[in-house]
Amino acid sequence: MGLCMENYKVSLCKCDDYEQKVVDAAVERAIDLLGGIGQFVKAGQTVVIKANMLMKCDVDKCATTHPSVVEAVGKLALQAGAARVIIADSAGGPFTEGYMNSIYKSSGLKEVAERNGFEMNVNFDTYSVNMPDAKVGKHFLICDCLQQADVIINVCKLKTHTFTGYTNAIKNMFGAIPGLAKVEMHGQFRTLDVFGDFLIDVWNYFGDKIVLNVSDAVMAMEGAGPSNGTPRKIGAVLAGVNPAAVDVVGLKLMNIEPITMPFIQTAVARGYIDKDLSAEIVGDNVDELVVTDFKTVTPNNFKPFANYIPQWLQGTVHRLMTQRPVISKKKCKGCKKCYEHCPMKAISMVKTHNSPVPKAKIDYSKCIRCYCCQELCPFGVVKVKSGVVYRMFHIGTKKHIKNMDK
Ligand code: SF4
Ligand code: SF4
Repeated sequence: MGLCMENYKVSLCKCDDYEQKVVDAAVERAIDLLGGIGQFVKAGQTVVIKANMLMKCDVDKCATTHPSVVEAVGKLALQAGAARVIIADSAGGPFTEGYMNSIYKSSGLKEVAERNGFEMNVNFDTYSVNMPDAKVGKHFLICDCLQQADVIINVCKLKTHTFTGYTNAIKNMFGAIPGLAKVEMHGQFRTLDVFGDFLIDVWNYFGDKIVLNVSDAVMAMEGAGPSNGTPRKIGAVLAGVNPAAVDVVGLKLMNIEPITMPFIQTAVARGYIDKDLSAEIVGDNVDELVVTDFKTVTPNNFKPFANYIPQWLQGTVHRLMTQRPVISKKKCKGCKKCYEHCPMKAISMVKTHNSPVPKAKIDYSKCIRCYCCQELCPFGVVKVKSGVVYRMFHIGTKKHIKNMDK
């Protein structure tokens, strides 16, 4: 990982709205507080901006990095002499030209690229990584466009996440894994601790090539993120070299105790940030920007009980003791997106007598609670529900349970 491990400086700059002039000023200030764009981008380099393009949806949903933030970062890279600025991501679907083009348009990024002389990534090749010494991610695919970059700027979005608790800088690099290979990784690294280790392995692979993280926290997402939550204003942009430090400050803004988040625990265990989480914040005062009633979610620390409980009892125990995705049979449109992306093949499409199209149904004995179905359902009909015992254990811990079950 290199230099970023010693660099805990995070700049925090107020940014009231997405008006381009306002965002340009806030992003430039945030990067200047870290020494200026020249610290990160050199003349002649190919810069890839890794945005969060999650899925095809309206920009106003706040599920994707806002195009104005990407525009501000890209313009600075060109000012620093970058030969090319390429905007890239692999969203939650096939990593193909046709699929990604529709997301390039809906995210507003295609327009930004055309207006500013950036490029949208057209390289849909994959690159096979072999890291025998990695903790868990010894072999995996990444998008070749990231492999080809001289430098990567990770331009992420601050949101809640029903599987991981939150998503920001660390998690955004999961988008380096091309399309449906993500499904395989979820199947391979099922629990949050192992999944967190995999993400750190991905970060280690890229090392110092990821020069900077810029986080869009102007409008964050609260509630059932990363795709079906509610936009919530925080009014800030963050920048920093160390993704764990950027996430620590992002979590403070959401009024979440950073050490309660599994990714932060993994980052500490893997030496990305000290135990005391001492991010050095420069710029504006974090206390003035914290949203005290931010609707948070609990990370899903679901661990299968297979080794401890007889098989015939497992379904009941799971239902009572955990949170689980629930599909509304009435509202399901039968588009099959969840069926195609479930890493455990836990979803089947079932005919019902009163519907012309088969509806999605979950087999909970196979479900690992990765919530990919909830994340990717374009109609928002997959909700997260808590079992009775789960609710009893969490009474009074946080307002999130009520929020989640709405
Ligand atoms: S049913 Fe949903 S939460 Fe369960 S494994 Fe499949 S995609 Fe993940
Ligand atoms: S993605 Fe949503 S609408 Fe489509 S089949 Fe699954 S639950 Fe139904």
